[in-house]
Amino acid sequence: MSQTTSTGKSFSAQAIVVGAGLVGLAAATALAKTGLEVIHLAPKAPPDRRTSALMGPSVTILKDLDLVQNPDELGTPLKKIRIIDATKRLIRAPEALFDSCELGEDAFGVNFANAKLSSQFAGQGKNLKNLKKIAASATRLERKDGVWTIELSNHATISAPLIVGADGKNSLVRRTSGIAAREHRYKQSALVCDLELEIPLNGVSVEFHYENGPFTLVPAGGLSANLVWIDNDQNLQKLKSASRATIRNAIEEKSQNLYGKIAMKSASFVFPLVSLEAETAGKDGVVLLGEAAHAFPPIGAQGLNLGLRDVADLIKSIKQTTQDTDNWAETISYDYAKRRKRDIARTTIMVNTLFKSLLSDMVPAQILRAGSIWALKTISPLRKKAFRLGMNPAS
Ligand SMILES: Cc1cc2nc3c(=O)[nH]c(=O)nc-3n(C[C@H](O)[C@H](O)[C@H](O)COP(=O)(O)OP(=O)(O)OC[C@H]3O[C@@H](n4cnc5c(N)ncnc54)[C@H](O)[C@@H]3O)c2cc1C
Repeated sequence: MSQTTSTGKSFSAQAIVVGAGLVGLAAATALAKTGLEVIHLAPKAPPDRRTSALMGPSVTILKDLDLVQNPDELGTPLKKIRIIDATKRLIRAPEALFDSCELGEDAFGVNFANAKLSSQFAGQGKNLKNLKKIAASATRLERKDGVWTIELSNHATISAPLIVGADGKNSLVRRTSGIAAREHRYKQSALVCDLELEIPLNGVSVEFHYENGPFTLVPAGGLSANLVWIDNDQNLQKLKSASRATIRNAIEEKSQNLYGKIAMKSASFVFPLVSLEAETAGKDGVVLLGEAAHAFPPIGAQGLNLGLRDVADLIKSIKQTTQDTDNWAETISYDYAKRRKRDIARTTIMVNTLFKSLLSDMVPAQILRAGSIWALKTISPLRKKAFRLGMNPAS
């Protein structure tokens, strides 16, 4: 797998996974578990302080790919979803409470700390002899005779026929492999932080819908909650630099004091909101996973769920393509792109449309939004169908 050249070390493998966010970590471990020789480019990064709500089908993927040992013990179940229209609009939606029991499920999904998921994904790959981790970034990629060569920030060179680009929104893999992407920067951002409430959420995820975006409290066990507050970037940047007491007061006010006194248990972090869709998820021996291929605002908990479905489909493409197939990596990349096309397009449209409709002040949009919540609240078969779709847009 390795040799030393005059310019530095060089390594080769069957596949290189670029990026060590949650999707890259999951992909590296899952690929190595198929028996392939894998190099994982995992530059050091600050810990991910976010949390991710993963729906039932994604939790099944974690189990099937052997990425997490006991998912139900690692996170907090999301049993109910409460929606409160907190806008001052002319037409407002009724308050609604949706219960996973109605779908015959114990929970809609599970809320995980990203840091816990990362260490589980990495831990499950730790003892695999065919998985080599390199703590460096890719700086340049080039393809010759069906083999990709990547130059690294530590001056080593690595090569493989199959490149898995899980290197986030600004993906170098996507840009250098000539895959175009449609990108839009929203004027909103998301502020996240960990909270302790006086009154527990008891498994209920609570969404307050405001004019500038939803303010969501996600249960994290006991009195703990994770906040995802979407608002205009300017407002959030200003708030982030205010004192903790000011931020806490603003959080109590936004949560309509329904959960009593609130304490901040972490610093707050602000994430810009972007919508991105690559024109294809794979070609020429390159496959794009996670935010390298798709990104959208964090509403309805879809981003990582979609990224895990990318990983699951890539494993199917790899298992289906025997290693003696002519143009093995190229075949995998086109098969993967075909498998992912519909799910990525559908989820991206669904989330962006929902996000824009939540923000729109136009009266027809207000009527549609209020009418939709009213219909979901009162028509049981519609409610079941909508939540099944939200839990798995690929179905
Ligand atoms: C506030 C917020 C809340 C969210 N909540 C949810 C939720 O509840 N449920 C859900 O499903 N989704 C949620 N998401 C979305 C989810 O967080 C993302 O979809 C997911 O984290 C994307 O992971 P990724 O690995 O694709 O990208 P990233 O996490 O961006 O990882 C990319 C990695 O690539 C590395 N990299 C970049 N360039 C290079 C290079 N040249 N060489 C090597 N490595 C490189 C980076 O260092 C990084 O580690 C949320 C997002 C936000 C912003």
